[in-house]
Amino acid sequence: MHNPAFTMNNVKWSAWEKCCILDGVIYINSSKENDSENMEYYYPFDYYRAPVPEHLVNYILGRKGNSYKGLYLHHLFASLDCSDKEQVKRWVEKFGPLYSPWENFEENGGAKVELFPFYDAYATFKRFMEAGKDFKKLISGDPVQGGELDWDDMIFESREDRLEYTFDSTKPYLAGISPVLVMRYKEPGQRPVLEWDWAIPDLISALYFMLFLDLTTKGGPYKCADPRCGNFFYPEDLRGEPQYCSPECQNRVNQRNNKARKKKVRLLWREGKSPEEIARATGIKIEQITTWVSTFKR
Ligand SMILES: [Zn+2]
Repeated sequence: MHNPAFTMNNVKWSAWEKCCILDGVIYINSSKENDSENMEYYYPFDYYRAPVPEHLVNYILGRKGNSYKGLYLHHLFASLDCSDKEQVKRWVEKFGPLYSPWENFEENGGAKVELFPFYDAYATFKRFMEAGKDFKKLISGDPVQGGELDWDDMIFESREDRLEYTFDSTKPYLAGISPVLVMRYKEPGQRPVLEWDWAIPDLISALYFMLFLDLTTKGGPYKCADPRCGNFFYPEDLRGEPQYCSPECQNRVNQRNNKARKKKVRLLWREGKSPEEIARATGIKIEQITTWVSTFKR
């Protein structure tokens, strides 16, 4: 299906190779090589059609060799750890700042962007991503647990109120998006066709656009079930099981669970319980218990 949101390309989306972060400001070198003519360009919606390549995700998050399954650009943004300046720097290097960099360019070709608005926009965006599961519950009609909904330093009377507040907080980030009429030449030498398109002024608006499309077509963002990871992603398999952003996260959680189970078995065995008693108490298979017990010293 043709989706007009995917065709907007009337804006220059620039990466910021060779940037640095100092005292809450992102700087781009004011050298000739870094002027607007020589900047690296990319198109954010390429990373909405297909996930961000693994090597790029690993580079930005500072991890090694994970094979991610469905991290699109807006997922990757919400998965950043903004307390890690290096991650922020690597994001800006590859995808640029959140607001149009062209307003920040100085005559000598350099540019600087305050980090505070970046962090602020990030926090609001992440909150919206976190609210994804509430949207799903709201739509499916799940009852609200308890009375008041506590959320950071605010208390809401209902989930609807909380979602409404979340919606309102995103409005300033979307205010710049507008429909535009464009003339497109499909074939060289042929007459142009009139089409409409979206004009998207900056990266943060594009990220919200992706999130809105997700919420209305794919059912919202998902968070990795490994609490030590916390990446947002879109799972391939939507069954009710815990979902992980990568097989590596799943393995880590399995290993941790296994270790905890083994520890429990060891404690019970040291108390003098038999493998049968341990199996009854823990629900772990007797074959597994006898294998472990044979390696323990009393
Ligand atoms: Zn993960």
